[in-house]
Amino acid sequence: MKQPSEMPENSFISDRILANTKRIVQENQIRFQKKFGQNFLIDAHVLAKITAAADLHGDETVIEVGPGIGTLTQELAEGAEKVIAIEIDRHLAEVLKTTLAAYPNVTVLNQDVLGVDLQQVREMCADGPVKMVANLPYNITSPLVMKVLEEAPFVSELVLMVQEEVARRMQAQAGTKDYGSLSVAVQYYAQADIAAFVPLNCFYPRPKVGSCVIRLKRLDQPAVDVESEEIFFSVVRAAFNQRRKTLLNSLSNGLSERFSKDQIQKTLAAAGVDSARRGETLDTKEFAMIANILYNDYCSAQDTMEETT
Ligand code: SAM
Repeated sequence: MKQPSEMPENSFISDRILANTKRIVQENQIRFQKKFGQNFLIDAHVLAKITAAADLHGDETVIEVGPGIGTLTQELAEGAEKVIAIEIDRHLAEVLKTTLAAYPNVTVLNQDVLGVDLQQVREMCADGPVKMVANLPYNITSPLVMKVLEEAPFVSELVLMVQEEVARRMQAQAGTKDYGSLSVAVQYYAQADIAAFVPLNCFYPRPKVGSCVIRLKRLDQPAVDVESEEIFFSVVRAAFNQRRKTLLNSLSNGLSERFSKDQIQKTLAAAGVDSARRGETLDTKEFAMIANILYNDYCSAQDTMEETT
């Protein structure tokens, strides 16, 4: 529960952020670009929650996606050693030269983050931990999260503002309505926790759907041992692509180019998984068991042969 004394101060600060945001928008003739998900944060309390969730100690490099006009960037620059802010919008990248002029520890890259070579970004980082913090444009959430989890093991933590529905999917457990391939993929690499629910009036302009701050803390090693990540994720995708079908049918259909229905049936029996179950009831361990049996029984000999020829 907030202390009553905090309320006027917080709302005063938020009023100031809103006024400042409106001034910058007006002075720079910024036209909000829907395709870039430009909803700027104007709430001091939410900014504080994001930086608290990022748990900065002064020695980190923060990679920020979409700094916008730099409101969150300034907070991050106060707490981290270095901020690398990646902004797709050329006009905003120009505006940032002024709004971030007082922060020499911020480097702005005017690029599409999905096209950025993260290994090159790594070379720009300081020696301490590397975290990603962002109020994300919602249309790139899943591809970006998977790109970072898969390609950038040096990023130890992601603190992200995402659509509430997506945050729920990322941390959903087997058997719940929000559980899907994104839940399994994220939880394979990270521990997912919702740090805050964020109402619509914390943004300017207001978005149409509610948001959450989610923290993804990378695990020291993946949650389950898999022989082949490629087969593991193919199994997960096939199971959820036809989530109303039985596992036998969804896997047979989705993996038909590599495995026969008979092989799938034998695999499910060997894994002790009822073939009439639906994919959405399987936890990560069960997916891993199925994928490992498929790999060991039907792929590894073939792989060895290919390697020796
Ligand atoms: N960080 C600012 C804030 O909190 O007020 C702005 C957040 S706004 C939701 C999303 C930002 O991401 C915008 O500045 C937008 O231009 C930028 N953006 C959108 N797509 C991007 C992409 N593919 N790569 C980098 N930046 C992107």
